[in-house]
Amino acid sequence: MRLLAKENGEMLAQLAWSRVLLGFDFDGTLAPIVADRDRAVMRPKTAELFAAVCRRYPCAVISGRSKADVGERLGPCAVKYVIGNHGLEPGAELGEFEREMRDAIPLLASALSELGGVDLEDKRYSVAIHYRRSRTKRTTRSAILRAVERLETPMRVVPGKLVINVIPQRAPNKGDALLGLRTVEGANTAFYAGDDVTDEDVFRIDQPGRLLSVRVGESRGSAAKYFLRDQREIDLLLSKLVALRLHEASR
Ligand SMILES: [Mg+2]
Repeated sequence: MRLLAKENGEMLAQLAWSRVLLGFDFDGTLAPIVADRDRAVMRPKTAELFAAVCRRYPCAVISGRSKADVGERLGPCAVKYVIGNHGLEPGAELGEFEREMRDAIPLLASALSELGGVDLEDKRYSVAIHYRRSRTKRTTRSAILRAVERLETPMRVVPGKLVINVIPQRAPNKGDALLGLRTVEGANTAFYAGDDVTDEDVFRIDQPGRLLSVRVGESRGSAAKYFLRDQREIDLLLSKLVALRLHEASR
């Protein structure tokens, strides 16, 4: 169901008046997807609205990027919680995850060295294997999956938009991260918006009244109950959230 449909106005108002933690994915949610991932930024209007939302609500950004990488892209927005690596960073077992990746990444790099248009994004605690620039996306994708399967330590594989994410199997996911932050924040409700497969770890959590999740772009296969029509609609959502809490939170 479309989140910004008129009939959901009351529900959004109640959410804004409750003790809520707002969570957002970055790429494809706060920022448009771009071919060169190093250039992903929020549109100026989005950044301005998001900064205003961050002054009124406790906010979290939960991204697949490393924490430092996504943190740099948030500009002047006072985001209370910045979580990277699909929910695992920061976390208690980073040393172990780093060791697993230090073994896996060179093996993957050599297994995939012959494939054109593939590039490995080493995020220390997980790796993203991008194949956006490959000319034979389908065969490349299966070659990547086979290479991951051959690793000695089994990994969690999460496909994304022209990317295969390889994540330590025991690592907390975005859903774990969001529920943890809801507790830390002492919030009754959490809200979350995301657009990709790793966001389904949040969408799958079924806690009516305590978690409201929204997918950017409608998708039949998604567990999210609500959707935004496209990434541009994030501005409309953010401005609604600002309007619903007229006053800035006093900190
Ligand atoms: Mg995304």
